[in-house]
Amino acid sequence: MAGAEQHKKRIAIMGSTGSIGTQALEVIRAHTDLLEVEILTAQTNDELLIAQALEFLPNAVVIGDEKKYEAVKSALSQTNVKVFTGEQALEEVADFDSYDIMLAAIVGFAGLRPTLKAVSKGKVVALANKETLVVAGDIVMQTALENRAPIIPVDSEHSAIFQCLVGESRNPIEKIILTASGGPFLGKKPNFLVNVKRDHALQHPNWRMGAKITIDSATLMNKGLEMIEAKWLFNLQPNQIEVVVHKESIIHSMVQFQDGSIKAQMGLPDMKLPIQYALGFPKRMQNDFPRLNFRKYPNLSFEEPDYKTFRNLGLSIEALKKGGNMACVLNAANEVAVWAFLKNRIGFLDITAVVEKTMEKIDFIATPTMEEYFETDGEARNFAASLMKL
Ligand code: NAD
Ligand code: MG
Repeated sequence: MAGAEQHKKRIAIMGSTGSIGTQALEVIRAHTDLLEVEILTAQTNDELLIAQALEFLPNAVVIGDEKKYEAVKSALSQTNVKVFTGEQALEEVADFDSYDIMLAAIVGFAGLRPTLKAVSKGKVVALANKETLVVAGDIVMQTALENRAPIIPVDSEHSAIFQCLVGESRNPIEKIILTASGGPFLGKKPNFLVNVKRDHALQHPNWRMGAKITIDSATLMNKGLEMIEAKWLFNLQPNQIEVVVHKESIIHSMVQFQDGSIKAQMGLPDMKLPIQYALGFPKRMQNDFPRLNFRKYPNLSFEEPDYKTFRNLGLSIEALKKGGNMACVLNAANEVAVWAFLKNRIGFLDITAVVEKTMEKIDFIATPTMEEYFETDGEARNFAASLMKL
C-alpha cells in the first residue's frame, strides 16, 4: 500500500445499523487516526443510517427499502454523501474501487452477492456474515484465492482460530475446537423447549446480538453454521471440527496442532474485539475495553453438547459432510423458520423440523454453480414456507 503511514483504511460497512455494524462504528470512532468510513448500508432503519451518515460523512450510503429513499436523500442533501437504493445498489457500491476493507455485516443470504463482489475485486473482507460461506463457501473461497482477497473472520470463534494460526502457516492443523456458550436453554430438554416463546429465546446469557443470530444461538444452529464456516475458512475435513460447550464464553475457540499442543484465544465476550482485530489486521490497535480478570472466573467449564435435544447440530454435521448444495438448503430453511418463529407463527422445536424436512425434499446437487445456489435457496425457502403454511 503506497504511503501506508498516512493512508487511513477506508471501510465499507454493509449492514451498518445492525449489532455488528454499530459496534464497528464504535471501533472506528475510537480510531479515527487509522480508520475512516467509505460506505454505509442499511435495509430499513433510515433514521439510524442518516445519523451515522451525518456523523461519519461517507462517500455513499445504501438504503435497501425504496420507500425510505426520499427521506434519506433529503436528510443528506446538504452533504456530498451519495444515496443509493434498489436491488442492485449493494453490488454497485461493493464494486467501488474507493474502499479498502468491506465489513460484511448483513444478516443472512442477502449478504452473499455484495460480499462475493468484494472478493472478486480482491478487496480485504472482514467477514461477519457467516451465511455467505455456509451457502456458497466453495465458490467464495475459490474466488478469494483467484483474486488474492484476504478474508478475515469477525465471528468470534473464527477470529480466535485465525489469531491462533498467526505464525503457524507451515504447521498443519490437527483439529479445531469451537466453543459454544450453549445459549439460554443449556441443559433444557424437549419437553421444556416445546413451549419456549420468542421473548425468552431472545435472552442470550453472554452476547447482545441481532434477532436472527440470537435465535440461532438458542437452537444451536449458530454453532452448526459455524462448523461449516470453519470448514471453508480453514480448509478442514468434517472430522477435524469439534464443538465443546463452554458456558463462560472466555475461550473463544482453540487450535490443536500435530504435536498435540493446543492454542486458545481468550478474552471477555465483546464483539468489538474481533471486529477491531479484523479492521486493524495485522496490527493490534490499542483500546480501553474492560480487561479479563481470571480471578473473576475461577472455573472454566467444558462439556459435550446435547446432540439429542439440539438436533440442529446433527443436521449441520450432515450438511457439512454431504457438501454440495445441502448447507444452502439448511440455511434457507432455517432463515425462513427463524423468521416465522420471531413472528410467533411456529414453535421453537418446529424450526428444526422445518429444516430437516426441507433437507429431505430439495434435490441434491454435488457441485452447484452460483446460479444453482440461488435456485436452491429459492426452492428451499418456498418449500419451507409451504410447510409452515406461510
Ligand atoms: P442485525 O440484524 O443486528 O443487523 C443486520 C444488518 O443487515 C442491519 O444493518 C440490516 O439493515 C441489514 N440487513 C438485514 N436484512 C437485509 C437485507 N435483506 N438486505 C440488505 N441488508 C439487510 O444482525 P447482526 O447481529 O449484526 O449480524 C450480522 C451478521 O453477523 C450475521 O450474519 C451474524 O450471523 C453475524 N455475526 C453477528 C454477531 C453478533 O454479535 N451480532 C456475532 C458473530 C457473527
Ligand atoms: Mg460466533
